[in-house]
Amino acid sequence: MSLAALNSPARPHAVVPMPTPPIEPARFRDALSRVATAVTIVATNGEHGMAGVTCSAVCSVCDTPATVLVCVNRRSYANGVIKRNGVLCVNWLGSAHAEISQVFAGVGDIPMERRFAPAQWDVLATGAPYCKVAVVALDCRVAQAMEVGTHSIFLAEVVQAAAVESIGDPLVYCQRSYATTRPLVLN
Ligand SMILES: Cc1cc2nc3c(=O)[nH]c(=O)nc-3n(C[C@H](O)[C@H](O)[C@H](O)COP(=O)(O)OP(=O)(O)OC[C@H]3O[C@@H](n4cnc5c(N)ncnc54)[C@H](O)[C@@H]3O)c2cc1C
Repeated sequence: MSLAALNSPARPHAVVPMPTPPIEPARFRDALSRVATAVTIVATNGEHGMAGVTCSAVCSVCDTPATVLVCVNRRSYANGVIKRNGVLCVNWLGSAHAEISQVFAGVGDIPMERRFAPAQWDVLATGAPYCKVAVVALDCRVAQAMEVGTHSIFLAEVVQAAAVESIGDPLVYCQRSYATTRPLVLN
């Protein structure tokens, strides 16, 4: 029977679908642990201080205006600092820099200001920290922030881009481990 027929008002005993509860958080996390993501440091600086956090929940939204989306846990120290400063820089790391990811994920509990090793960090247009060894960095102003459950979604307008000359291999996170990509040869 077609879907149209099932939904037809002429059908006297149409089945009303029961609302489906969302899957459990652990199952959701397990499912997404299979998805490879790029690893970034989302960093901010300004009147309200300097902070950074390792984030994989980052994606491109559109090019007009050039916008990226970043999801940051509301319990993360960086969350409130990004909101107050209104600027952020997304720094995509290469596979040679997994240790930077670890530092900004809180491993070793290094105080925030010491996480920004001076040799590795600079600024672009907004003053948000730009990682000089990042594969690519997008310097942004926060256009909108919205709250969804445990996280804030930042929509950030890109004002400047910077990239290292030699791209190298990207740092990715998959199956709860760091990894990188390798080219596929297609026939
Ligand atoms: C591969 C990977 C991807 C991830 N992706 C995401 C993601 O997309 N989104 C996300 O939200 N999280 C993500 N995380 C988790 C995130 O990176 C951190 O692990 C998490 O936010 C905890 O960080 P934290 O330990 O620095 O704790 P936080 O509580 O965020 O920070 C603690 C630090 O902040 C500083 N601090 C606290 N209060 C002050 C103060 N008043 N003044 C100055 N400094 C202060 C101190 O130095 C303290 O050590 C990811 C982690 C990994 C490894």
